[in-house]
Amino acid sequence: MSGIPALLLSAVIGGVAVLLALRGRIRREEERRRSAEDELARERSSRAEAEAAVEARQEALFENMVEGVLLLDEGGRVLFTNTACRLFFGLHSDLRGRSLMETFRCVELADVAAEAGRAQSVTGREIELSGPGEERSLQVNAARIVTPDGRLTGTLLVLHDTTRLRQLESTRREFVANVSHELRTPLSLIKGSVETLLDGAVQDPGAATRFLEIIDRHCDRLTFLIEDLLTLSRLESGQVAINFDTVPLRRQVAEVVDDFTRKANDRGVDLINAVPPELRARADSDRLDQVLANLVDNAIKYGRPGGSVRVEGRNIPDGGRVELAVVDDGPGIPPEAAERVFERFYRVDTARSREQGGTGLGLSIVKHIVQAHGGEVRLETAIGKGSTFRFTLPAAEPETSDE
Ligand code: ADP
Repeated sequence: MSGIPALLLSAVIGGVAVLLALRGRIRREEERRRSAEDELARERSSRAEAEAAVEARQEALFENMVEGVLLLDEGGRVLFTNTACRLFFGLHSDLRGRSLMETFRCVELADVAAEAGRAQSVTGREIELSGPGEERSLQVNAARIVTPDGRLTGTLLVLHDTTRLRQLESTRREFVANVSHELRTPLSLIKGSVETLLDGAVQDPGAATRFLEIIDRHCDRLTFLIEDLLTLSRLESGQVAINFDTVPLRRQVAEVVDDFTRKANDRGVDLINAVPPELRARADSDRLDQVLANLVDNAIKYGRPGGSVRVEGRNIPDGGRVELAVVDDGPGIPPEAAERVFERFYRVDTARSREQGGTGLGLSIVKHIVQAHGGEVRLETAIGKGSTFRFTLPAAEPETSDE
């Protein structure tokens, strides 16, 4: 009988051992499965992180673009817009899911998108937007987005602001028209005088002198015009180097006053240098001479015959800058013209300017030179109260004495 329990015991022990081994295997399997799951979760989260990083990069890219970007789905509904695009149309809210027309209310934009949906290549069109107080030109390029099997999935529109380009083009056209006009007037007067001389006036000494004087005056006018145009063009293209030096302003103004004393006397104008002796600027003396000469010349030409022209100067209290002012007691300039006198070829009284040999470019040159010094120029004027042209320049460091 003793053999049976021993057999049973060994069978039980064997069974327990198998059970234990089985449990161990199950545990190890469980651990393996858990670690595989952990690995998968880690992979998923790092893939999600990578996708989020790509998305953030793309968003930063679109948000920092000056071009507007608009993405539509295959049904023409908004999927994405960047800030530039929303700003072009003055829109602020989330536009996703809304239709193009309902959101942008721009027929031309809808047309370009529709055209792009049909076309095989990129389509483009320039559109004009008129908002309150401002007009904007946009070049819109659009392309359809298709799957490899040719199914349309959406349309991408890129909007480029061409307003500045259009403005520059119109300024250039206006400039060419103005220059042509300014050249044509003296040229036709010269040509007319020459023809009259050839027709017989040359035989009459009195008439001949008169026509030769006309030719002489208009040749001068052409020369001034070409000189001013060249100066302006060099200033605008940044070709004029400003050689900064310490300029004692009273002395500089005294030289200009000397140059214009005769012209001032001819019109009975009292020309006064009221610049304090200690005032100094960091400036290019030759260019400053051009500024002062233009302003003093204008003040004598357009000011009151028998009046006065004063050049004043002061240190600006906030430091770092000085201000010069050319003050006349002439008829002044009407407000609508005062805003425009620094524009090229703008004149308040064209006939008077031409009669005085003016080119209409003097104040433009003044503005460019002052700005090239880092200064500002402004006009204070009122009808019957005279005109004051003020401009600023960098102040020179106070002189230190070597002891
Ligand atoms: P211009 O060669 O005709 O003098 P500017 O550019 O120097 O050209 O000046 C533009 C216009 O501004 C002048 O034609 C004139 O009508 C007006 N203007 C300039 N300075 C004065 C002033 N001190 N008083 C009145 N009008 C002035």
